[in-house]
Amino acid sequence: MTDVSNHNYPEKLDLDKIPKCPICSGCFLYHLSFHDVIAGQHKSYFNIYRCGSCYFLKILPEPTFDEIVSFYPEDYYSHQDYEAKEETTSFAHKFIDKLQNTILDLHYNKKPSSGLFLRSISWLFRNSISCMPVKQPKGSGMLLDVGSGSGYWIEKLSRYSWNCKGIDIIGKKSDKNIIGDFLKVPFETKFEYIRVHGVIEHVIDPDKYIMRISELLEENGECHISTPNSNCLSFKIFKKYWIGLDVPRHLQVFNDQNLVLLFKKYNLEVIRRSSELSSGAFISCIYIYLRDKFGIAPPHPNVWFFLVIMFLPLDFFMKWFNQSVNMVVVAKKPDNRQTTSS
Ligand SMILES: [Zn+2]
Repeated sequence: MTDVSNHNYPEKLDLDKIPKCPICSGCFLYHLSFHDVIAGQHKSYFNIYRCGSCYFLKILPEPTFDEIVSFYPEDYYSHQDYEAKEETTSFAHKFIDKLQNTILDLHYNKKPSSGLFLRSISWLFRNSISCMPVKQPKGSGMLLDVGSGSGYWIEKLSRYSWNCKGIDIIGKKSDKNIIGDFLKVPFETKFEYIRVHGVIEHVIDPDKYIMRISELLEENGECHISTPNSNCLSFKIFKKYWIGLDVPRHLQVFNDQNLVLLFKKYNLEVIRRSSELSSGAFISCIYIYLRDKFGIAPPHPNVWFFLVIMFLPLDFFMKWFNQSVNMVVVAKKPDNRQTTSS
């Protein structure tokens, strides 16, 4: 068992210091406490509160900007950003990279350069690519990837008629990839498609993010947001060990109902909600439990890849029953010109 006697448990907030829920103005109630098991950056425990009305989860008191910076290891990049990591050389990441290219070729009716085996696998996994445009642009073709890291996805999507830009607070700067604050960097154009994958749960003020997305979308443009959904089976089973909490880097966790309310607040119409194939989700929860209880070390990327494959049927099962750790919510900017003219 892990010795928690040295851990620093935060005081629970006085009732008069608890803010109102930013989504529905409901009251936050203490829900659970946990610490950073995955990166091991902090031994301190953090208190997570839950809105009594819409079940929005939030770390309270809100960490300061400097504290948030300290939550991230120096080599931190978004978890899907394989190119930014040394393990890119591993078999697992090379395979995933090729598989993603083949799946995109399949969606865009482009002749794939890969062999028959990969083409067959890509057909099986064709719906696993979400939070991504899988058809040709209809408008300007401008695409913005918020949280682009090294520009991994904008490089891929640029091959399919999309004029891609990326923005991230850290990452690799290029003419397509801006390093800066999404809320402050001025953009010269609006976008037909905005992709926000695994970002909204990390930011200090998600309200302002959604407002900015609404401002930057073209009429009839779409925003695809992928984020953990606390309204899923694995949260009920694993509770504080649930990978979607990722304490303390996830400052808040939405569910498939309250995120819709936030979109509505900023004139965005939710047109689709779905479960994202969260490969490795179940094994990650088990790993967090074992690491917290017994201090087991992180496995080698190839061992991890093998474990992910073993648990993949369960992750597929969760997706089919809308119980994946991550959800994708698709919202559209209504064309008010049509409304006023009709
Ligand atoms: Zn609420």
